Amino acid sequence: MEFALLNGHRSLPIPRSNGECQFCGHPVIAKCGPQLIWHWAHRSRYSCDPWWENEGPWHRSWKNHFPSEFREVVAYDSLGEKHIADLKLPDGLVIELQHSSMTIEEMHSRESFYDKMIWIVDAESFVRNITIFDPLPNPKLPFVDDLIFYPPHPAWRRDRVSQKGSYKSLIVSRRSKNVPGSSMVEIESGRTITEDFDATYIGHHLFLWMRPRAIWYQTTRPTFLDFGDGRIAKLMRYREEKDIWCLKLKRKDDFINLLRSRISYPAADGR
Ligand SMILES: [Zn+2]
Repeated sequence: MEFALLNGHRSLPIPRSNGECQFCGHPVIAKCGPQLIWHWAHRSRYSCDPWWENEGPWHRSWKNHFPSEFREVVAYDSLGEKHIADLKLPDGLVIELQHSSMTIEEMHSRESFYDKMIWIVDAESFVRNITIFDPLPNPKLPFVDDLIFYPPHPAWRRDRVSQKGSYKSLIVSRRSKNVPGSSMVEIESGRTITEDFDATYIGHHLFLWMRPRAIWYQTTRPTFLDFGDGRIAKLMRYREEKDIWCLKLKRKDDFINLLRSRISYPAADGR
């Protein structure tokens, strides 16, 4: 952990010091060294938060985008259960940073405990299994209501259908043209659905994820994959529940700025 209590105050690790875990109260030792991410370590972890995962550079770099008072915040629910939130912003939003795997039971427990939360997943190790295909239009535009989109075919990964701007991976049919009771569906290429794709684009893409980490399709809170290359992808249904899955791409810097904008400080003169 990055913080422990030192003489009753939250403190970063200080070489050769002993502190107290702010969660379980047990003694912790500062681990500081040139090759180390400085942290506080328990002599024994048996009594500490079972949801806590050992931190690597990925965790730390995320947390360091936020002021220290919002990092490693001990959070309580109405029954007195407590856990350490990786980040908890002043409006109550909890940001859970997940690097390693997790059981579905733990995922559900964490979602119900924190309630107002988002997941940020370290996707660098599996991003090579994700192929991003053509852009989809803004799902809120009226002309999109009529369209049914189809997921890309796995063979298209090899065929490089994902070439930017070809729209070959966009296959649609129109609800207005589907005859009720008929098994025939008229298929169109995505290129025909709008003249101005660029103007309707706000980040949504078709994608395929081979050997997916299935758990991330089962979350009920907003889930963002950090690709490790400056992009963040929200894993989401394109429109309503049961619609095709898509990724909404954002620049990581913009995403961090959006989260940081939720932090506002009172004016210096107390107003
Ligand atoms: Zn502890």
